[in-house]
Amino acid sequence: GAGPGAPRVPRYVRVNTLKTRVDDVVDFFKRQGYSFLGKAGSMEELRTLSGKKFLLDLHLPELLVFPPQTDFHDNRLYMSGHIILQDKASCLPAFLLSPVASSHVIDACAAPGNKTSHLAAILKNKGQIFAFDLDAKRLATMNTMLMRAGVTSFKLAQQDFLTVDPQDPKYSKVTYILLDPSCSGSGMVNRLPVEEAAPSAERLQALAGFQRKVLSHALSFPAVQRLAYSTCSVHREENEDVVQAVLQEQGSAFRLVNVFPSWPCRGLATFPGAECCLRASPTATLTQGFFVAVLERCRDQDAVPS
Ligand code: SAM
Repeated sequence: GAGPGAPRVPRYVRVNTLKTRVDDVVDFFKRQGYSFLGKAGSMEELRTLSGKKFLLDLHLPELLVFPPQTDFHDNRLYMSGHIILQDKASCLPAFLLSPVASSHVIDACAAPGNKTSHLAAILKNKGQIFAFDLDAKRLATMNTMLMRAGVTSFKLAQQDFLTVDPQDPKYSKVTYILLDPSCSGSGMVNRLPVEEAAPSAERLQALAGFQRKVLSHALSFPAVQRLAYSTCSVHREENEDVVQAVLQEQGSAFRLVNVFPSWPCRGLATFPGAECCLRASPTATLTQGFFVAVLERCRDQDAVPS
C-alpha cells in the first residue's frame, strides 16, 4: 500500500467491451449501492470524488472512476473479465494507437496483457494481435487474463522481441505496433520506499539503451504505419530522449503525431516537437506517472518540399 503522504489516485475501471457495455456495468454498480454522477466535466470532479460515488471519465471512453483505494479485486465483474482494473494513463497507448478494425497489430512487450486486451476490444476481436514477452510467469498470468477477458484474436509467444524477424512474411501486414517496454517504473505512485524507486544513472542508461534498441527494431517492420511508445517512468532519459534519438536515427521516415490536444500534460520541451508527446502524473492528471508518444510513418509526398 501507499505510505503516508503518498499521492492518492482514483480507482479506474475499464469496461471490457468484448464482454459487456458501459450501461450494464453502471447498472451493476448502482445495484451494489454506488451512485452514478454521470460523465465528469472537469478534473476537479475526479479529484474530489469520495464515498460510494462514481463517474464516467472525461477523457477516455469506457472508463469509470471510483474514489481512491476502492478495491474491486474480489468483485464479480472483475473475476469474470467484464471489467479491467487499469490505471487511466495505461489506457492511453491502445486508445491513441487506435488500430482500425481487422488490422494486424504487434504488442511487443505485452505481459501481463492489459494493453493487449484493450487492443482486442478496440479491434472487436477482429484482425490479429501478435503479442510477445520474455517472462514465462508473466505470460502465464497473461494467458489467464486474456481468456477471462474473452480475447480470441491473438498469438502469444515467449520470445525476445529483438529476435522477432521483421522480414518474416507472418508480419508483412502488421501496420500498428504497441511498445510498452521494461522501464524504471519510477512513475508508479505506490512504489516504496521512495529512495529505492530512484534509479541510478547507470540503470537509467542501461534501460534507455534497451528502449532505443527495441523502438528502432519495431520501426523496422516493413508495413508499420503507426506506433505507440509508452513507459511508466518519469525520467526523460527513458521518454523524450529515447523518442528523439530514434526519430533522428530514422531520418525523415517517421514523425511524432500531435495526439490528444486536449490532454493537459505534455512532453518535456527537450526538442522541437516534444510537446506532441503526452505525460501523466498524480498531480496533473490524477494517474500514475506515465509517458506516451505516437509515431507515424511519413508518406512520400510529405518528404518532397513544395
Ligand atoms: N504492456 C504490459 C501491460 O500493459 O500489461 C506491461 C509490459 S511491462 C511494462 C514490460 C514487459 O516487457 C515485461 O513483461 C517484460 O517481461 C517484457 N520484456 C522485457 N524485455 C523484453 C524483450 N526483449 N522482448 C519481449 N518482452 C520483453
